[in-house]
Amino acid sequence: NDRLATADDAVFRILHNEFERQATHLEMIASENFTSRAVMEATGSIFTNKYAEGYPQKRYYNGCECADEIEQLAIDRLCEIFGCTYANVQPHSGSQANGAVYAALLNANDKLLGMDLQQGGHLTHGAKVSFSGKNYQSFSYGVDANGYIDYAKVLEIAKIVKPKMIVCGASAYARELDFAKFREIADAVGAILFADIAHIAGLVAAGEHRSPFPYAHVVTSTTHKTLRGPRGGVIMTNDEALVKKINSAVFPALQGGPLLHVIAAKAVAFGEVLKPEWKEYAKQVKRNASVLGEVMLERGFDLVSGGTDNHLILVSLLNKDYSGEEASTALENAGITVNKNSVPGDTRSAKLTSGIRIGSAALTTLGMKEKEFELIAHRICDVLKNIHDLALHVKIKKELVVLLQNFQVYKSATY
Ligand code: PLP
Repeated sequence: NDRLATADDAVFRILHNEFERQATHLEMIASENFTSRAVMEATGSIFTNKYAEGYPQKRYYNGCECADEIEQLAIDRLCEIFGCTYANVQPHSGSQANGAVYAALLNANDKLLGMDLQQGGHLTHGAKVSFSGKNYQSFSYGVDANGYIDYAKVLEIAKIVKPKMIVCGASAYARELDFAKFREIADAVGAILFADIAHIAGLVAAGEHRSPFPYAHVVTSTTHKTLRGPRGGVIMTNDEALVKKINSAVFPALQGGPLLHVIAAKAVAFGEVLKPEWKEYAKQVKRNASVLGEVMLERGFDLVSGGTDNHLILVSLLNKDYSGEEASTALENAGITVNKNSVPGDTRSAKLTSGIRIGSAALTTLGMKEKEFELIAHRICDVLKNIHDLALHVKIKKELVVLLQNFQVYKSATY
């Protein structure tokens, strides 16, 4: 028998432990989700075996008839979701997609203006530790004293810097992005507008967040966050003049053969997004995040920007005597998985941070609604208000494990 359980005990045991972990912890990392079993099935499918360098109808390998069909299906579905004309579904990740956009549209040392990492931006938006901050001259903008993107300041910085490209999009920003305003700013300085909608893509797809089209010249996303697909990236545009540059930046400039099993899974996930139920999912994601924020505010916690318009909240611990690191560890002990996160004006290091980021997308997939989120929000507050009370954390974990038993999507570690 060559099934995993008997073929490789060591790997099977680790996968099983991960299954147990996912089944017994509340998954509240804002960038994570639970894919359908159909998506996992495609990810673990026979396309793992196939090489298909190139693009549909233009391959460098033989035997690509089915590969062409699956990639074209993924492209067509993605274009239908976001109402755009061209898509590349080959990037292996969000970072690869962003790297390809820069490689396609910038030259080394060109000026790039993106959101500061500490203010909510992503590493690939010009952080100095990332290729995006090493290969290009990167500059950043951030949020105002209320935690909202300061568009007037973005314009001011853009006028001084004169970037070739402006990146909008974020990893830890709880408010709606105004793509039209970003486009005005880009036009005022003659910059290309690039929107990275990795976090909010599932909401955009449902009309629960403004669309980057027709404002952004080029758009990227991950496929595994609110979009609930396999791990991967995509690039989209309406501008025919950019298509060749983008495609050749992905392959052959940055990647070799596409991950066709992942592309098949992307197609499955996009099919799910196109179903009418998706709209209700996205609405519930927002309602759940909003309940989470309201309870935490009521119980005296500070949220960056004072609330949320999307799938996440960013809790500020600037005025607390414990860090994001301590907070996320205490929550983990209580069976709640979140991540520590820097907040605007953070005084602690990136290893400690003064914030935690909490998301609603994964638990909403499990079927949790306002009632469950209200309870969970209270338990999060209980843990944080008793940060050193390990006995309480363990007691809360027991309660939450029982709650979670009613919301299980998988029967085992594999599909
Ligand atoms: N862009 C944004 C806004 C993100 O939040 C992330 C990941 O967190 C990425 C890009 C990168 O995605 P990946 O981890 O797939 O490289």
